[in-house]
Amino acid sequence: MTYSIPKAELHCHIEGAVPVELAQKQAAKYGVNINPVINGTHYKWHDFTSFITAYDTVANLFKSEEDYQHLAYEYLASIAKDGAVYSEIFVSPDHAMEAGISPQAYFVGLAAGIDKAEAEFGIICRMIIVGVRHLGSEKVEEAARIAANRTHPYITGFGMAGDERSGQVKDFARAFDIARDAGLGITVHAGELVGAQSVKNAVDYLKPSRIGHGVRAIEDADLVKQLADAQIVLEVCPCSNIALSVFETMAQHPFKQLTDAGIITTISSDDPPFFATDLANDYAQIAQTFGYSDADMKQFTKNAINAAFVDNEIKTKILTQLDTE
Ligand SMILES: [Zn+2]
Repeated sequence: MTYSIPKAELHCHIEGAVPVELAQKQAAKYGVNINPVINGTHYKWHDFTSFITAYDTVANLFKSEEDYQHLAYEYLASIAKDGAVYSEIFVSPDHAMEAGISPQAYFVGLAAGIDKAEAEFGIICRMIIVGVRHLGSEKVEEAARIAANRTHPYITGFGMAGDERSGQVKDFARAFDIARDAGLGITVHAGELVGAQSVKNAVDYLKPSRIGHGVRAIEDADLVKQLADAQIVLEVCPCSNIALSVFETMAQHPFKQLTDAGIITTISSDDPPFFATDLANDYAQIAQTFGYSDADMKQFTKNAINAAFVDNEIKTKILTQLDTE
């Protein structure tokens, strides 16, 4: 679905953005049977745990710089055609190493795809390195050290993804200190599978400027006020939340309530083909469900640019373009 408003996305896992056709091509290339995780034109999973299994199977099909270049280019080209002007992708050294490629080669491959997409479509993209929570705090610290080395100029942020139900937030504080001390932007997944307390712990222990999801903050009025007062930005992924049954229907999604309470909200697609969505559809669903005007929708794009982990020169350039369109 296309939707003409200029868009900016802060929350997309690059391995979660593999179209099914591309996964099938990669599976043929490497002689892997991925039938167990594919159902026609969709990925097959039924809960968060089986979603992670399908995700890891698909991620493992990308093993060379060229594979990642192609993936980043294909993804960015697809959203640029739907009006995206800026994107941040979550990149996972753990998934790269599991697939048999070094983190450095992984970043170089992705960056080549980013450059190609920018040259052709003008879309700008930066990378946020994520640690995988359910692999444990040591692995997340390792990812933070890789991020802190900033071996590529497009690495501008650090975050944590994976299963929110795993481990205690405070166990990951050191990883986030390492990343913050290196000057990286900080975001963390919280308030998706676990409720408001998870968001509160993430804010208190990890001091992020953005929260991945964070939508279940709605369960705690004091926390909603705290997020609004501290101007902590939510990377809301509406269709992902419905697909994973965080909320039953879009009408029950708290996007508008959170926004009306003064929280800075943005719109992203998370792992689009896994949730049968794309960025344009996430924008369209929010606009239609809550009756937002085009100007309102553009504001969510501006929110994303203001909260982006990119230098001020690029922010100003994009914001100026948005104001003149
Ligand atoms: Zn995510």
